[in-house]
Amino acid sequence: MNPVLALARPDILELQPYQHARWDPSLERMHANEMPWRAQGDNTQAGLNRYPEPQPHALVERMALLYSVPTANVLVGRGSDEAIDLLVRAFCRAGQDNVVITPPTFGFYKVAARIQGAGVIEVPLLRDDFQLDLPAVIEAGRRAKIVFLCSPNNPTGNLLDEAAMLDVCRALADRALVCLDEAYIEFAGRASLAARLAEFPNLVVLRTLSKAYALAGARLGTLIAGADIVSLLKRIIPPYAIPASTIEEVVALTEAPQRAMAAARIRTLLAERELARQRLAAMSAVVRVHPSDANFLLVEFRDARAALEAGKDVGLLIRDFSSAPGLTNCLRISIGTPEQNERLLAALERL
Ligand code: PMP
Repeated sequence: MNPVLALARPDILELQPYQHARWDPSLERMHANEMPWRAQGDNTQAGLNRYPEPQPHALVERMALLYSVPTANVLVGRGSDEAIDLLVRAFCRAGQDNVVITPPTFGFYKVAARIQGAGVIEVPLLRDDFQLDLPAVIEAGRRAKIVFLCSPNNPTGNLLDEAAMLDVCRALADRALVCLDEAYIEFAGRASLAARLAEFPNLVVLRTLSKAYALAGARLGTLIAGADIVSLLKRIIPPYAIPASTIEEVVALTEAPQRAMAAARIRTLLAERELARQRLAAMSAVVRVHPSDANFLLVEFRDARAALEAGKDVGLLIRDFSSAPGLTNCLRISIGTPEQNERLLAALERL
């Protein structure tokens, strides 16, 4: 057994999970209180009158292929958001256990922890390069159940140093889970640390189809972890979590042609990001463009409000981080189509 399982909430380890209707496609279904007919116009393969398969085989196999990991290490859910929520609920006792976050970072780690009643220990990234404050992260991790790391990090855009992340895993083996969120890894041209799972039983990797695969609306995220952790989380994921339409669409939209298209679009996006970076860096309204390994740029303006307004005036929303600690006057710009990028850059150049 993975020793990290002992960190889970004792009541969850003992929980008798909900018994959903048996999944046996060789038999006709008269056991799940479904309607026997489809709704008018329902053209799905499986029929939306039927509950979907709980952890759909086709989807789990596709994600295992996409991320080059065994199926036993895969849990699929509604976006990586659901995976974050499940982890916190499985491992943190309300009022007793903590998570570690490294701000500025993705906001949902903290919210998920707060919803569960867990404590949140903040260990800010280093100011100069947004890398981990390694001794402080390890020290805080000793008082926590989960350390959330995000690489490339949102909203700063940079990859975290790989050796430092593995040092955190090593130092906290048997002590805490290290949840590494790789939502943007496809834009970084780096291998996923999921390949190192066998060496680090406390490592959990999150991947998503919402970014590089252009499927944010499908809501499909993948948690990659030791088989024992995956089995534990299967016990608490809501029954039939993934809608049938998502299962069918995702399987159809992650075939080889779509994967090739995603790779080509990543190349286009990276070229656009570099153009935008150069144009922004040359603007007098811009103090600094932070280096990015993701599909967005974090930009410090002289006057963030004026830059936001300039975007709105040409019909474009950019994200305001100017009130986040350490990010005064910073905005996050998601790279768009060449036309959108040009429209925004031209508006910002007029500032
Ligand atoms: N992690 C990070 C770092 C993100 O930026 C986001 C979305 N903005 C998510 C996770 C959530 O992704 P999903 O759509 O898979 O829930």
